[in-house]
This record gives sequence, C-alpha cells and structure tokens, in this order.
Amino acid sequence: MTKVKTQVLVIGAGPGGYSAAFRCADLGLETVIVERHPTLGGVCLNVGCIPSKALLHVAKVIEEAKHIEKAGIFYESPKIDIKKVAEYKSGVVKKLTGGLDAMAKMRKVQHIQGVAKFLDEHSVEVSLSNSDEKTKVTFDYCIIAAGSQSSKMSFIPHEDPRIWDSTNALEVKEVPKKLLILGGGIIGLEMGTVYSTLGSQVDVAIRGEQLMTGTDADLIKLYTKANANRFNIMYKTQTQSIIPKPDGIYVEFKGENAPKEGILYDAVLVALGRSANGNKLGLENTNVEVNEQGLIKVDSQLRTKVPHIFAIGDIIGQPMLAHKAVHEGHVAAEVIAGHKVYFEPKQIPSIAYTFPEIAWAGMTEIEAKKAGINYEVSTFPWSASGRALASDVSNTGMTKLIFNKDTHQLIGGAIVGENAGELLGEISLALEMDCDAEDIALTIHAHPTLHESIGMAAEIFEGTITDLP
Ligand code: FAD
Repeated sequence: MTKVKTQVLVIGAGPGGYSAAFRCADLGLETVIVERHPTLGGVCLNVGCIPSKALLHVAKVIEEAKHIEKAGIFYESPKIDIKKVAEYKSGVVKKLTGGLDAMAKMRKVQHIQGVAKFLDEHSVEVSLSNSDEKTKVTFDYCIIAAGSQSSKMSFIPHEDPRIWDSTNALEVKEVPKKLLILGGGIIGLEMGTVYSTLGSQVDVAIRGEQLMTGTDADLIKLYTKANANRFNIMYKTQTQSIIPKPDGIYVEFKGENAPKEGILYDAVLVALGRSANGNKLGLENTNVEVNEQGLIKVDSQLRTKVPHIFAIGDIIGQPMLAHKAVHEGHVAAEVIAGHKVYFEPKQIPSIAYTFPEIAWAGMTEIEAKKAGINYEVSTFPWSASGRALASDVSNTGMTKLIFNKDTHQLIGGAIVGENAGELLGEISLALEMDCDAEDIALTIHAHPTLHESIGMAAEIFEGTITDLP
C-alpha cells in the first residue's frame, strides 16, 4: 500500500472540493485531493451545470431562428446531427476540466484518483475499481466534498437504458420521439427544454399543482404560459407503474388529473431530486454525524462534529448549487488556515436556465409571508420595456422586487425572462449590500436595457419617489 501524508485532504473534486483545495494551496497548506473520476470538476463540470448549459445554448439558437420569422426572416427547419451536438457539449466540458487540471498542477495540489473511505479520524484508504493498488492518505485536516447523485426509486427499473437520470440525458445519444419527465424541478425542466427543442414530444408528470415547488406562483405562471406548447404538464399525477416493454416504456399513472390509460414512452427521465453521498464514505469509522439521507451536519464554519474534519457542498444539504459549494469551500479552507470566518450569506441565487429563464435571490414572497415581514412587492412587466419589445421577449418577462415596507430594504428579488440569470447579479449584490429601494431607484441604469427594469421596479415601490431628498 502506498502511503501519503498531507496537511489537508479534500475528498471530491467538484466545485466545492476544487475551490477548497485551491484556496488551501493559495494559503500555503499542503493539499491532496482524492477524486474517483479521472477529471476534476465533479458533477457540475462533467455531468451537470456546464454540459446542460452547452446543450441549452444549442437549443436557444434553434428557438431564436424560429422566432425571427415574425420579423420576416425565414430559416429552413434545422438539420440536427446529434453526434455533433454531443461533441460540442463534450468539447466545452473538456476545455474546462483541462483548465482545472492545469490550475491544480500550478498550485502543486496532488490529485489521487480513486474512491476514498475513512479508516479513522486521521486517515482514508483510496482504491481504484480496476486495480488492487491502494493508497493510505493520512491528514491533519479533511474537507469532505463528495457531493450527491440522482435519487433512485425502488419502483423504477433504473437498469433499463431507456430510463434515464440527468447524466444519461446529457449524453444526447438520441432524440426520443416521446419523452416523459418525472418531476417538475429545475434539472428536469432544463433537460426537457433541450429535448423538446431537438424534437421530442415531452410530458412532465408532477405530484403537486406547480412546477419548481417553493418558487413564487406568479413567476411560474408566466413561465408555464410561455411553455404551453412545449410541455404537456400533468399536474397532481403520480406514476403507478413503469414497465419496460420491447417497443417502449409503458407508464401507468394515478392521481386527480392522471391519464386514465397507460402511455408508451421512448424514454423516461427520472428527475426526482438528488441524494447526498454521506453514507458511502466509511464515516461510521469516525464521529462525524451523518443522517439517513446521507447529509453531514456542520456548523457555520463548516466543521463537522470532529473539529478537524469539515464538509461542504451538496453533501451538507440544500440548496444543492455549485456557487454555494464554492463559497463554502473557501470558508472551510480559510478556517483551516486560522482565519476567523463563517459561512453566513445574505442570499444564495437560484436560476432555472429554461426558456424563459427564472432567477431569484433572497427571500421569496412565500418566505417573507411566512416570516411575518411587512413586505411590499414591486413588479415591472417587460411589456413596458423598450428593449424587451425590440428583442421580442416582452410577453415572457417580468422583474419583481420585494421590499420591507417599514425599512424600504430590499429583501428579495426575481426575474423571469431573457437572460434573467445574468440580470439577477444586480439583485444579488443589492441584497448583499443591504440596499433599499432608493439606492436602486437612484442608480442610473443604461437605456434601453433589460436591467433598467430593476431600477423601474424599485421606483414603483410605494414611497420611493416621495421619500427622495
Ligand atoms: P459534486 O459536484 O457532486 O462533486 C463531488 C465529487 O466527489 C464527484 O466528482 C464525485 O465523483 C466525488 N466523490 C464522491 N464520493 C467520493 C469518494 N468516496 N472518493 C472520491 N471521490 C468521491 N448547480 C448550479 O449552481 N447551477 C447549475 O446550472 C446547475 N445545473 C445542474 C445540472 C444538472 C444536470 C445537475 C445534475 C446538477 C446541476 N447543478 C447546478 C448542481 C451542481 O452540479 C451541484 O450543486 C454541485 O456540483 C455540487 O458540488 P459539490 O462540490 O458539492 O459536489
């Protein structure tokens, strides 16, 4: 057995893990990162954020070509070479993971490939599935960033190649004629957007009455209206049985609005959430607290119950987002280096990169109501935006700001529409800086832009104008 000794061991090379490892190295700590896959980047770069956005870009170009017909520009229907689409996506991923590899080498962060399992509170054993060779890594500190994976359900025959998780969907080997998506969350809808644009007929089955549970209903209403022809959404519908047959996957449904007859699909994408990997790490050999769902408990410095072992990213819970993992990674590294820092963000943005995009940060209206805050919502519809009209996105956009009525402070914001994810940056910064309505309304926004809708929404807030000095 090879033996390696290091100051900091990072388990998992996703956004949390590589960010933590790089920050540790930048702070002068000797750092080793163990990752079971040959490339760095984790779910996000390899089978998550990045490949999905590459495919959404392809879909966007197709959509825009269709929309411009209104302005007298006509294109033929696109000829789709699915192999090339997949190559384009893989090329984007390769560039980014290659870049990470170079950054790790530059910082002298050692990458050991293999699966890490804790032997005790100061060592792990690393093994490779295709080799008997093992490495024992002993450490002073450890940061667990082992992420999550698609949730599996006992009643679903996941072994059938026509039953996909998000990783399978991102392979884009084929465009199924009829695709069923189970679940109405962001990942499923993003993939549904790609496949529907490439030519699939897409059904979405959800248990509840609204897509993206927990998001304000007015945002989803606008999104759903814009997508009435893209998806057949089956609300209050659960799957009764999923039976693989030679000519397709036969699905029977139950529930208030469920179809009475079973339906045959060419593929089924299971997008019912993600499960943390905490129960696969041998943590029973330590005093690190991990619950049945595989989530590791940490404090605001990302420390587990064992003070020299930290955990970050998806493995510590919601929101399971790359940018949250990155910031947690930085905090854990800095705490190890002796800095007195905490993970206490004022906001963590969420974005669905669908058509149109939906983006929100800070409190939702649902949360403000629940917290008993005396709030007011200011909404600016994009039908009144010159730029939105010029770009033919006025019907599918709105900017919504939520203010504390007593203090005028911005407590949350959301945008539905073209580039909503990019536009949200201003709202995130305003929340982080504790801006009030006056701060935003008095900021000169360029005209004609979509971001001026944020200034306009702030001006609408009751009292903004009258309270100006
Ligand atoms: P991960 O990225 O999950 O990385 C964990 C790593 O640990 C993996 O590489 C895994 O191989 C490794 N590992 C696990 N166990 C071991 C072990 N025992 N030994 C060694 N290595 C191990 N988030 C966004 O913010 N924006 C998006 O647009 C977005 N889109 C997404 C699209 C899809 C299809 C999916 C699936 C996810 C998306 N996410 C997005 C979520 C995002 O990918 C995750 O939140 C993020 O990757 C979490 O980072 P992490 O570092 O916690 O873990």
